[in-house]
Amino acid sequence: MKYNPSLFFCLGMVVILTAFSACNDDDDVCPTLTWFQDADGDGLGNPDVSLTACEQPDGYVADNTDTDESGTVIPVDAAYFTTANANITVTTVACTLSDGTNTQCYQIVSNSAPTDHEMGPWCPDNIADDASAGGIWLEGGVAYDVDGEFIENLASFYNDNTWQMYDANGDIFVTETEDDCINAANPNVGDAYRNFCVECLPSYITDISTTFLIPVTPVLQSNAVFFATGPGGPGSTVPSTRGVALNGVEFSAPAPVNNILSAYTLAPFDDAGGHINVNQGYHYHAATGLSYSIAQPDGHAPLIGYAMDGHAIYDLLDANGNEATGLDDCRGQTDDVRGYHYHVDAAGANNFINCLQGAYVIN
Ligand SMILES: [Zn+2]
Ligand SMILES: [Zn+2]
Repeated sequence: MKYNPSLFFCLGMVVILTAFSACNDDDDVCPTLTWFQDADGDGLGNPDVSLTACEQPDGYVADNTDTDESGTVIPVDAAYFTTANANITVTTVACTLSDGTNTQCYQIVSNSAPTDHEMGPWCPDNIADDASAGGIWLEGGVAYDVDGEFIENLASFYNDNTWQMYDANGDIFVTETEDDCINAANPNVGDAYRNFCVECLPSYITDISTTFLIPVTPVLQSNAVFFATGPGGPGSTVPSTRGVALNGVEFSAPAPVNNILSAYTLAPFDDAGGHINVNQGYHYHAATGLSYSIAQPDGHAPLIGYAMDGHAIYDLLDANGNEATGLDDCRGQTDDVRGYHYHVDAAGANNFINCLQGAYVIN
């Protein structure tokens, strides 16, 4: 066939026009609809939280008659903090939230030292010591006891013969001074602190003061905000702190386990999931069920703290030992008694919750 550019152009236009008319046909059979959030999964949607989409999104329904869902907003109960720890002070201050809401916040000031349980121990002294002499280490979703045997077996645990954290007598190399604890916690730790079990003691943090600002009444958002992975980049207002336990101890961002291990150090957490650094004070990287909590009369998991958006954080397991099911991406769910709330992650996860479903304070 003789090449005919005008014929090819014409065929091309037909293809393009056909494509256009197919798009128009799709729009005709799939009009944009409004969908209402069904956070409590009862099939009824929240008239105040909606989005528009062609097809039904997960967690949304066409119904908009759920008055319970929009009605159950549980304010923070500040009395839990002062009951859990007499050293905590709570005042009410004006604040602005990430969605622009001007509201009241609780300013919770804590010295970071819990009064409801001991701090430590973290590092056992000798490889013959049992689990009562050490704390825990979090790896691959599991919380391991840091007993003497764990330290003895580090080389095989991490499949790396550089690990050798004890001498010929089985005595474990443990940081002994505040300077040691500061130096060994430095991410650029020198070889001098290789194979040290890092332990910062409560006596190093006697003048710490930590302030948390959380909205008195949480404000649910339609989109979740995931945490900053570090302390938050320039201009970032997203918190990295996960929340605050009822005893005033911070639920911190994940411990930088890989940095700690790559320096051939171990910075264990105590059995309550906490350890100390001299800037931050005592803080949690895991919830192990040892901190002050409020049992729920209906057998729901106990209340253990609040997230930075003012939504309550409950323990992982209910009174029958069952994990909460049907959690959203943030580990949240809604019920009529507690409104929107989170369930904390397993201790080994080095995490508490994944994101904030409510507005948080902008400092
Ligand atoms: Zn830490
Ligand atoms: Zn729940």
